[in-house]
Amino acid sequence: MRSSELFKEALELFPLGVNSPVRYYSPEPVMFAQGHGSKILDVNGKEYIDYSLGFGPMILGHANPDVSNHIKSQVDKGILFGSISENEIKLGKTIKNAVGSIERLRFTNSGTEATMHAIRLARGFTGKKYIVKMEGGYHGAHDYALIKSGSGTMTFGVPSSAGVPEEVSRTVLVGRYNDAESIEKLFKEHRNEIAAVITEPVLGNIGVINPENDFLNSLREITEKYSSLLIFDEVITGFRFGFKGYQDIAGIKPDLTTMGKIIGGGAPVGMFGGREDIMAHVAPQGDVYEAGTFSGNPLTMAAGIATLDQLKSKDYSAITNYAARLEEKLNSLISEYNIDATINRCHSMFQIFFNKNKVTDYKGATASDTEKFNKMFHTLLEKGIFFPPSQFETEFVSFAHSETDLESTVDAFSSVLKCL
Ligand code: PMP
Repeated sequence: MRSSELFKEALELFPLGVNSPVRYYSPEPVMFAQGHGSKILDVNGKEYIDYSLGFGPMILGHANPDVSNHIKSQVDKGILFGSISENEIKLGKTIKNAVGSIERLRFTNSGTEATMHAIRLARGFTGKKYIVKMEGGYHGAHDYALIKSGSGTMTFGVPSSAGVPEEVSRTVLVGRYNDAESIEKLFKEHRNEIAAVITEPVLGNIGVINPENDFLNSLREITEKYSSLLIFDEVITGFRFGFKGYQDIAGIKPDLTTMGKIIGGGAPVGMFGGREDIMAHVAPQGDVYEAGTFSGNPLTMAAGIATLDQLKSKDYSAITNYAARLEEKLNSLISEYNIDATINRCHSMFQIFFNKNKVTDYKGATASDTEKFNKMFHTLLEKGIFFPPSQFETEFVSFAHSETDLESTVDAFSSVLKCL
């Protein structure tokens, strides 16, 4: 098979054959060659309904004609000038107008860069040292974020990476999501020393976990009480549930926000932004350094503009309804086959945990049966359904998913759950 031959070559080039950890799964990952709408095709010509969507960005589906045309037309005009260009202004304006708390912003090239700079900025602005993050919260692959992290770090059992100096990890305090008391306790222990709390408003890197018990409001109150900043990492949630951030749905105004994924329409992107007085500290206006050769590059901006232009007039209830109906049908199958499983869903993103209890935090997520998840993943793959290959990721629905996709997915599940 061509896929296996290629993967052998990849093994000679990249650690475990991949350029990002969660792309690897045993015995070997599928080698994809094309994507159109809700489908992706592997190099052997087999088609899959895609619920990974490049880990989130492809909300319009693959090779959306308008996005492709925007990219092509920018290619003909040049793809990098190393100077401010009109595309940055267009995309920046769209984001600023859509998200209430973003008064000034900076584009970066990944979500990792966005959170790294937002954290440095919070420290530079407040003059304080500590950062609070959530257990299982993922904010990318830099030193300040790789402490009790989610996503691939959990998939491969290294929630705190080797190579991060202890002096650095000691400046990052870990609280429990959906447990405001655990956060307040950290503030009491480190009074006047915490620069910011960073959290995904909806956890999306240990499966999906929704905020409960007014948790996000409590974070806003605690951070204000202790003169600390609140950073919402909306790399996944930005423009995923509506033409806005999750913060606008929750009615909470963070001081800083990070985004990525969808705002780049599938091209490499990140963004951090927020209060004007804080953003004024970013170089060269201020003394917090941040830079990037490719930041705001015209090609990424073109893909982002074309994506957000279309999303602006989309009825997001279409993808929410798809996910809700899929959830309902899967829940019926779970009951029918008497399987210990629970589904968490936030609008158009969801995850299945093989756990008979409700999952509301890291402890619950990690208590799930990951062997069953892997078995489900592989059987779905055989049946032409592509899920992200880890319990600690999220399934996404795109505007390209159809009624037929929904039926095929439910059919595949029926045979998967029967064999679990
Ligand atoms: N923050 C969150 C919430 C994410 O989900 C991710 C990536 N999945 C990142 C940050 C890092 O983004 P990137 O992979 O673009 O560096």
